Amino acid sequence: MDKERSAKLKSLPKVDQVLAMPMIAAYSGPAPRETVVDAVRDAIDGMRKAVLGGEDIEVSAQRAAELALAKLTRSEVRSLRRVINGTGVILHTNLGRARLSESATEVISSVAMGYSTLEYDVEEGKRGSRHDHINKLICAITGAEDAIAVNNNAAATLLVLSAICFRTEVLVSRGELVEIGGAFRIPDIMRISGATLKEIGTTNKTHLYDYERHINENTGAILKVHTSNYRITGFTEDVSCRDLVKLAHDNGLPMIYDIGSGLMVDLKGYGLDEPVVPQAIKDGADLVLFSGDKLLGGPQAGIIAGRKCFIDAMKKHPLARVMRLDKMTLAGLEETFRQYRDPAQAMKNIPVLQMITAPSDDIKYKAQRFALKLAQENPLVADFSVVKGIGRVGGGSAPMLNIDTWAVAVSPREITVDEMASKLRHWSVPVICHIQDGLVLLDMRTVTDDELSTLAKAVSDVLR
Ligand SMILES: *Cc1c(COP(=O)(O)O)cnc(C)c1O
Repeated sequence: MDKERSAKLKSLPKVDQVLAMPMIAAYSGPAPRETVVDAVRDAIDGMRKAVLGGEDIEVSAQRAAELALAKLTRSEVRSLRRVINGTGVILHTNLGRARLSESATEVISSVAMGYSTLEYDVEEGKRGSRHDHINKLICAITGAEDAIAVNNNAAATLLVLSAICFRTEVLVSRGELVEIGGAFRIPDIMRISGATLKEIGTTNKTHLYDYERHINENTGAILKVHTSNYRITGFTEDVSCRDLVKLAHDNGLPMIYDIGSGLMVDLKGYGLDEPVVPQAIKDGADLVLFSGDKLLGGPQAGIIAGRKCFIDAMKKHPLARVMRLDKMTLAGLEETFRQYRDPAQAMKNIPVLQMITAPSDDIKYKAQRFALKLAQENPLVADFSVVKGIGRVGGGSAPMLNIDTWAVAVSPREITVDEMASKLRHWSVPVICHIQDGLVLLDMRTVTDDELSTLAKAVSDVLR
């Protein structure tokens, strides 16, 4: 080891020495004494590792105190907290997918704070079922006979296959063997459910006769999976929901449709080529599966709507208990579904639908006004302009759709764009944004009006 390195190792401060530094001695935060000592020890250990790794770092009690204090401060910040989404990706999976409507948020908070009717029937004055809060609503909106909701759509898929298709063969097109982010793969779910995957057709083309040919006495169901996050284009063919229903029913089999996104209203007018739940039910699908926090615009959940005999079997299955929803999610889900009784109200009140359908000109106007405000508040430190961008639905929905959108573009003069983006991320309300062509972009489609003053404060702070 070279001389300089061993000298530095020798000069590493002692724990007591760092604890005596004024900065640490005067620490008055909420962390208990042991946590402070641990932070100091970690800081010194970090220094030792850096020196051994040949890094050229400053070694002193003062520096160790600074590192320990920074760690203590970081540990006081809540881990799961609100951020501002300046990316233009509406269902950003890493940022929590759908933001909930105001009324859903209020109901969740009220149910969380008090006791609730979670499993209590006030009419009868006795025990009720948590499934009964939303199934009638879902049936009224989708046309299904019955419904059940579990933790997410991955769970819903597992429950359906386990309860309905155990020890049978399930036919799935090779073009639909999807992987959804976070290691949800249809073949894997199939394996742990106890059903056997029977692959049908080819990646780009699957015909009705491909399914027909593979139906035998072991077949338990036909499963159609919406290719949510990719599209196969070119020389392709798949079989429609309606044709699969006919084939399944002709052979006494259920047709199961994993639709992914849970779109309730047709948004083809906005370029959204996604299956709609009520249509799939109308086409005869026996079970339709979808997420609560994608295009439905509710909390994380997996909803199964369809024939009562199958839903009953699922309610009785042990996995239903394993995957059951908590009262807060149920409250948010009920309120989200209630909005859909009047589709016009849903379009107005559900943030995901609002953001997808907001006219590009409105977003442009918002961006212009905000850029002007920022320019007035931050003279000399940055240039502000408005640029056209491409927004996304995200969350594995409508992957081919480019949504016209507008962003405020910031060109900082005294720091780099990377520094600015990093500082925004580390701000007390983290701001997540994209960098493009040497500009920091704040997309206005995913920032609500009531977030603008916070965002303005963040921008001014990081530029100062
Ligand atoms: C998103 C998606 C899933 C997984 O849903 P989660 O609610 O994230 O578990 C399953 N299938 C399809 C087709 C999807 O699009």
